[in-house]
Amino acid sequence: MNNLERTLSIIKPDAVERNLSEKIKSIFLKNNLLVKDTKKLHISKDEAAEFYKVHQSKPFYDQLCSYLSSGPIEVMILEGENAVLKNRELMGATDPKNAKDGTIRKLFGVSIDKNSVHGSDSVDNAKNEINFFFNK
Ligand code: UDP
Ligand code: MG
Repeated sequence: MNNLERTLSIIKPDAVERNLSEKIKSIFLKNNLLVKDTKKLHISKDEAAEFYKVHQSKPFYDQLCSYLSSGPIEVMILEGENAVLKNRELMGATDPKNAKDGTIRKLFGVSIDKNSVHGSDSVDNAKNEINFFFNK
């Protein structure tokens, strides 16, 4: 292993609701991202606002926080070689319409907000986001 990393993945309410968690996890495993810890939870809007505070100035912030708190989510720690970038590649573009074939958002995303998954976008943010949900 040259660059072992950890990143945070969230299976968003639209995907949990459609029972896609196992299918999404199998994509991670097939691509050598190990699921090191996982939990299902239903966060409050205040917790979503804290989690997504980097987006607080964006026009979609309020809707985003309402959405992430609208139903159960599954959060997990993924570990593997270049895990942060690899997870972002497996997820695909933010808007499922622009996501490449075979990516999670292309396969399962419904719209730019209901795009099935979240993934940390840097090693530093991954540490903060893992700490947010797992305190480690
Ligand atoms: N989002 C949205 N409308 C937009 C842009 C983003 O609803 O115009 C939502 C979308 O669900 C996205 C999340 O806000 O996943 C965070 O946005 P970001 O730019 O960080 O995209 P991501 O890192 O999730 O690809
Ligand atoms: Mg992001």
